[in-house]
Amino acid sequence: MNVGAWIGLGANLGDARAALRVAVRALAALPGTRVLRVSSLYRSAPVDAGGPDYLNAVAELDTPLAPLALLHALQSIEQAAGRERPYRNAPRTLDLDLLLHGDERLDSPELTVPHPRMGERAFVLLPLAELAPGLVRAEQLAAVTGQRIERVEQDWVGF
Ligand code: ATP
Ligand code: CA
Ligand code: CA
Repeated sequence: MNVGAWIGLGANLGDARAALRVAVRALAALPGTRVLRVSSLYRSAPVDAGGPDYLNAVAELDTPLAPLALLHALQSIEQAAGRERPYRNAPRTLDLDLLLHGDERLDSPELTVPHPRMGERAFVLLPLAELAPGLVRAEQLAAVTGQRIERVEQDWVGF
């Protein structure tokens, strides 16, 4: 049975916009999976890290993949984009986080859903609220107003 899953996309190395477009197409090509909606593209300041600004977006999937299978698929897409992990919060060509997977709650080092830090990040909350206002609380948005972020482009990905 398919479930709704929400993916956070980010990149701040190389052609970040192109990497995010390729990533959305790769998500749409996963077995049995449809990309239902993609948020606008946002530009955000790195949090707890240096480096160039990020481009971010959120995508809504309809997928038969179980949480771990989906995580592994996300990691393959990151690898194909040349993702390296030299140190924590390092700049990256592509980051795909599993934010929500239906009503699933998982808590292991390999996979925690809902994503444990999504509620404190403007670059997740704003694009998520754009697509699904009911998933984001006003207090959460109020708590991230200090984080620099701007919406830069609508309809930036065709798939
Ligand atoms: P953050 O998790 O704070 O956004 P990050 O995205 O930079 O940091 P990564 O280096 O991409 O961190 O991932 C580190 C590990 O997090 C991965 O090996 C993965 O197994 C684990 N992980 C746990 N929960 C999740 C999740 N919901 N989505 C993606 N990765 C997760
Ligand atoms: Ca991340
Ligand atoms: Ca990640």
